[in-house]
Amino acid sequence: MKRKEIDPRIDLASEDAPREWFVYLKPGHHLDGAHCFGAGAQIKATMRRVRPCSCHDCMKEEPK
Ligand SMILES: [Zn+2]
Repeated sequence: MKRKEIDPRIDLASEDAPREWFVYLKPGHHLDGAHCFGAGAQIKATMRRVRPCSCHDCMKEEPK
């Protein structure tokens, strides 16, 4: 499974083990205040909880 098949808001997802992902969100998104997190087989359900983020780091990294 490629990251774009999971969710377009994912910047980088490494599959550490089968169905074990470590996800980095694109700037402007967060999950419970975090920009990266580990996720298992329920990664798509987890991504539904991702919310827009306007923290200092996300604003700084916003594409021009
Ligand atoms: Zn942020």
